[in-house]
Amino acid sequence: MGQGFDIHRLVPGRKLILGGVPIPHETGLSGHSDADVLLHALMNALLGAMGKGDIGTHFPDTDPAFAGASSVSLLGHVLGLMREDGFAIVNADVTVIAQRPRLSPHFAAMRTSLARLLGVSEEAVNVKAGTMEGLGSIGDGKAMAALAVVLLHGS
Ligand code: MG
Repeated sequence: MGQGFDIHRLVPGRKLILGGVPIPHETGLSGHSDADVLLHALMNALLGAMGKGDIGTHFPDTDPAFAGASSVSLLGHVLGLMREDGFAIVNADVTVIAQRPRLSPHFAAMRTSLARLLGVSEEAVNVKAGTMEGLGSIGDGKAMAALAVVLLHGS
């Protein structure tokens, strides 16, 4: 099993993409890639379960090859490593920590997207969210974080 965490700043003029799903909002996540914080936490969890470090080592933000990279394509690379190692996903559970926007209306789309990207049934994916009760940078709407846990089995 592996756990993952990531956090990105929310800034004007960027799209908000979570789990591969575009979400209407006046700010978006800033980062070297498309900054899909949910997929980044999920990749960290997958790499953690495989004992292969984190996305910072696999996709360094100093490498121009990853500027503006789609997190979906980075996830495809991580899933390739997983299959090479003979692992398959049992289930994944992700939590987005955001003050705004309300994410529950988007849970179903995010779950469908994650199941498709991971190649598992929707029952194997859970998406949830929480706020920071207005506390700190996330509570001020300046950042969004995500946590992920995945369970793998050897095939
Ligand atoms: Mg990140």
